[in-house]
Amino acid sequence: MSRKKENVTCQICQKQKKTNEVIPAELVSEPLAEIIRKAHPDWSTSGFICNSDLNYFRAKRVKDILESEKGEISNVEEQVLKSLKEHELLSMNVNTEFDRQLTIGERLADKLTKYAGSWTFIIIFGGIVLLWIAINSYVLLTKPFDPYPFILLNLVLSCVAAMQAPIILMSQNREGAKDRLRAEYDYQVNLKAELEIRHLHEKLDHLLINQWHKLLEIQEIQMELMEELTLKKTKH
Ligand SMILES: [Zn+2]
Repeated sequence: MSRKKENVTCQICQKQKKTNEVIPAELVSEPLAEIIRKAHPDWSTSGFICNSDLNYFRAKRVKDILESEKGEISNVEEQVLKSLKEHELLSMNVNTEFDRQLTIGERLADKLTKYAGSWTFIIIFGGIVLLWIAINSYVLLTKPFDPYPFILLNLVLSCVAAMQAPIILMSQNREGAKDRLRAEYDYQVNLKAELEIRHLHEKLDHLLINQWHKLLEIQEIQMELMEELTLKKTKH
């Protein structure tokens, strides 16, 4: 390669430099030129810039890219924190919420239904019926208060059955209402989760695309530096 001995002036440091120490300003990439323009408003694309000044601005550009990346990540974190603060958690215990609204009668019906559906109740009730029949069978000859075919026992059993049915119905209605409430809460929690996930998705996409562009730019700067190095090596 031929080496020119004529000197040119660097736009930035205003020093006389050899032509192999400078590059034309029009070859500087646009984002880099923007940074140089910020520091030196009189920057023109027709002048020259020396390698050391160019490297300084390249380092500055890489630093800017990395710093803006950091800023973006903390912005995302802030938004997540904000959304967590703003939208209070929807999930709560449906059972305790529901029990708080019950009246004494409803609570009593629940307890009776629970008791009536147990083996204890069946055994005790069967025992009473058998005792009733035994007593009236034993004193049948003397003075039975409910002789065969135990009409009074029938009446008592009918009354118990008649009372039990509405109590069980009452309790079942409430179980249904509780299920509905639970389903509604489930729906709300699911909806919130879905929205949060979509939100996160968008943030992630945004971040990935931005990061990609920035990495490409850093890569470009590195490629430029490498090209210069190889050029220097071939010159010497
Ligand atoms: Zn210079």
